[in-house]
Amino acid sequence: MHELGLVMNVIHMITQDASSRGFRRVKSVELEVGEFSGALPHALKEAFRIAAEGTLLDGATLVIDEVRAELCCKDCGRTFFPGKQGWNCPYCGAGGADLVRGMELQVKSYVGEAEECQSK
Ligand SMILES: [Zn+2]
Repeated sequence: MHELGLVMNVIHMITQDASSRGFRRVKSVELEVGEFSGALPHALKEAFRIAAEGTLLDGATLVIDEVRAELCCKDCGRTFFPGKQGWNCPYCGAGGADLVRGMELQVKSYVGEAEECQSK
C-alpha cells in the first residue's frame, strides 16, 4: 500500500520531534493532503491506525485537510482549478499550466502530551 509508506515517514518524523520535546504521547496529527498527491484520505487513516500501534502516536487522531489542486497558466499567469477544460487555461485557452497546489502531503501540526509531573 502506497499510503503505508507515506504514513510511516510521517510517524517517524513526528516520533523524533516529539521525543526531543519530551512528549510522552501524541494526541492528534493534522495532515495536508493534496488532490494530486496520490494518497487517498481513507487509506491514509487506515494505514495510520495500523502503523501507529506501539509508537508515541498509538491511538492518535488523524485529521486530514484536503487541498484542492490549483494550476497556474504559463501564458497569462492566472491561477485556476482544473475542471471541464482540463489543464487548459479558462482565461486565454493556453495548454500549458503548472501545478501550484495539490501535490502536498505534509504534517501541518500535531498535538503532543508532555510527561506528567510526579513530584508534589
Ligand atoms: Zn492563461
